[in-house]
Amino acid sequence: MNDKTPEFDAIIVGSGPGGATVARELSRRGQQVLLLERGGNQPLKNGVLPIASMMNAVSVGDKLASGRALTTGGTTAVYLGATVRPRVELFQSLGIDISREVEEAEKELPLAPLPDALLRPQSIKLRETATALGYELFTSRMLVDQSKCSVGYTYGARWTARAYVQDAVNSGATLVNQARALRVLVEDGRAVGVEYEQRKGRKAVEIRQARASTVVLAAGGPASPVILRRSGLKNAADSGFYCHPSIAVYGTSPLKGQEGFGGSWGLRLNDEIRIGDANFDRTFYRLIMLGQRQWRRVFSYTKSIGMGVMVKDSVGGELGEDLLYRKPLTEEDRDKLAQGEQVARRVLEHAGAKNLFTSAVSSSHIGGAIKIGRHVDAKLQTQYRNLHVCDGSVLPPEVNTPTLTLICLGKYLANQIAPAV
Ligand SMILES: Cc1cc2nc3c(=O)[nH]c(=O)nc-3n(C[C@H](O)[C@H](O)[C@H](O)COP(=O)(O)OP(=O)(O)OC[C@H]3O[C@@H](n4cnc5c(N)ncnc54)[C@H](O)[C@@H]3O)c2cc1C
Repeated sequence: MNDKTPEFDAIIVGSGPGGATVARELSRRGQQVLLLERGGNQPLKNGVLPIASMMNAVSVGDKLASGRALTTGGTTAVYLGATVRPRVELFQSLGIDISREVEEAEKELPLAPLPDALLRPQSIKLRETATALGYELFTSRMLVDQSKCSVGYTYGARWTARAYVQDAVNSGATLVNQARALRVLVEDGRAVGVEYEQRKGRKAVEIRQARASTVVLAAGGPASPVILRRSGLKNAADSGFYCHPSIAVYGTSPLKGQEGFGGSWGLRLNDEIRIGDANFDRTFYRLIMLGQRQWRRVFSYTKSIGMGVMVKDSVGGELGEDLLYRKPLTEEDRDKLAQGEQVARRVLEHAGAKNLFTSAVSSSHIGGAIKIGRHVDAKLQTQYRNLHVCDGSVLPPEVNTPTLTLICLGKYLANQIAPAV
């Protein structure tokens, strides 16, 4: 570090829902914020190529991989927009009170259930069939700005964390893209900055440093534990993680349908198995079919019909010394997936679906590698002073629809770092 090393009040690593929220709140309070984002900042465009170019897979071993997006806004750039109410009591039991932040987030975000006009007819048919078969259903509030949907499904209507990044920049934050944090700089047990790799063009990279009195890692469930290890915290992620294994079952429907938002409702089987609507927009459907090498189905969107199954796995596996994640699927995981698949197939068949196929198992998201109470305290602070973590890596396994919870945790962390006056 030399005299030219820039100084900030806070450096936030990663601009997903956790990082974008902390950056927004701190810069609104007059703090000088540097937001380092590994991905680019291209405008979000609908289509297989633009979306695939932002996607990245992190291996969990066992041919299992977890998807994420490397771009401004993080994985919200490609997510579905479904939310569940944050588990206030769960966090209270960990010494964290987010009740005020939940109230605030619910007021300012476009959160509402979707009308049927924004769902595919296949989705409505499955919902009716599941009800008739006696399953208990739930409806999610979706992060969708419905005022942008006057002509029906609209790609750009989903809220993404880019909105909060923009607010942060408007309040004076500096966003640096193509900047991949390598490690946190630590002096006398205190975080003082970040070393990062700045991409310049296709191949060239430059190693840079920036200083700040506070550092927040929000690089996502898989990335932040790796940065902590590289920063000297050898015990980071030493007690397992979860990856919520999932599958989808797709078939051909007697109905033909326009595009719609998927993921807005599901069946409540039990706490361990969730079955939900998988009648997504055309691009997302095509990406799934391409990933599954279902070449003929790629072009049969209008007649497609599907349901997804996600199961809660037990916390386990390891982040090895080579900084790779490994977690074998257990018999219990396979058993839960099979139970979920059976129900999904039952509902699909009763809805008239034919030619059913089940996808390979993938991971919904890697999370929980950083435990509140063990690796971070109730201020989400690590054993290095002023180094905090605020992303999927600190979420307990009970949180399986993380975005809204991360927004609330981001607000909570900003209140710990610089209380609002
Ligand atoms: C297909 C799909 C659909 C989903 N649908 C939903 C849904 O409907 N509802 C829901 O709640 N959740 C959903 N999720 C999950 C949700 O989007 C993520 O769990 C959530 O975005 C995680 O937020 P995060 O801040 O932890 O990480 P991310 O959103 O992944 O953000 C991390 C950011 O950090 C950046 N980064 C990574 N490494 C570095 C580094 N070294 N230096 C600098 N920057 C770095 C990344 O580029 C990224 O921008 C979905 C996920 C997927 C893959």
